[in-house]
Amino acid sequence: MLQETKQQALVSIDPYNTIVDRKPVFSAEEYKQKLLTLSGSQIIGNVTYRNFHFPLVAAERKNNVGKRLLLISGEHGDEPSGPIATLEFLKNQTDRKIHITSIPLLNPSGFFCNSHNNLEGVEVYASYGNPPSTQESIAVWNYLRNKHFDLALCLHEDSDTGETFANGFYIIQCPEATAISRKIIDKVRETTKITDAKRLWGNRGHDHGVVVWKPNYPTVYLAARLLKEKRIKTCLFSEPDAIQNREGKHEIPLKERIQIQKTVINTVVELLETDFDYMEKS
Ligand SMILES: [Zn+2]
Repeated sequence: MLQETKQQALVSIDPYNTIVDRKPVFSAEEYKQKLLTLSGSQIIGNVTYRNFHFPLVAAERKNNVGKRLLLISGEHGDEPSGPIATLEFLKNQTDRKIHITSIPLLNPSGFFCNSHNNLEGVEVYASYGNPPSTQESIAVWNYLRNKHFDLALCLHEDSDTGETFANGFYIIQCPEATAISRKIIDKVRETTKITDAKRLWGNRGHDHGVVVWKPNYPTVYLAARLLKEKRIKTCLFSEPDAIQNREGKHEIPLKERIQIQKTVINTVVELLETDFDYMEKS
């Protein structure tokens, strides 16, 4: 089906290589190459805005008996640690005891322009209404049709420059907090400060770094729609602080944020591989 376009996508030149300065990490062409050469990858759609062309890629690590994880990142283009960590994780994982379905980069045009939204200024994250309304969400929703998961892990960063300053790491879980959130917080705490802010993420409270989100249905977010359709049991958002201080420096540098995201992915995967009751109330 879409697989035969893989070779074409590999040789096409992305014009944004020259516009976006991501040299320390990946150019668009490098990232594309890495995505397309991941084992178990397939093109699930293409994003085209003016002269920007980029394939939407999903990668699967199949396992018929284990739990099922949906790992997604890059919904917000200006939160780079997720797509980089996901790619690096997938590159090194072939044989796990769980089934992993991943879409490492949900908003490629935003990612390569360091923009929260896509190149049309639309927030991809909030385009999963019924029906989905962007090139990205249409392709992703179509690919996920009829798929069910135990848990969705969504890698974001806290870049809220409003009145809330996370000053550390936190997790959002919906529809309620379970033991897995606490395990992740404990693991991340070994290397990184957990938030001590009073209020977070739209002025919500939290319990030692765990925010509970109860989405109102109907909704326009991918994870919330999957929850509504009972195609995931729970959803986690990983949120390392990416706020810049007055000098323009990140409180947690990108390299460290990538490491945090990898820790989160590894912790979730390792717990799902055991008989740990990830839905147990914390
Ligand atoms: Zn985000």
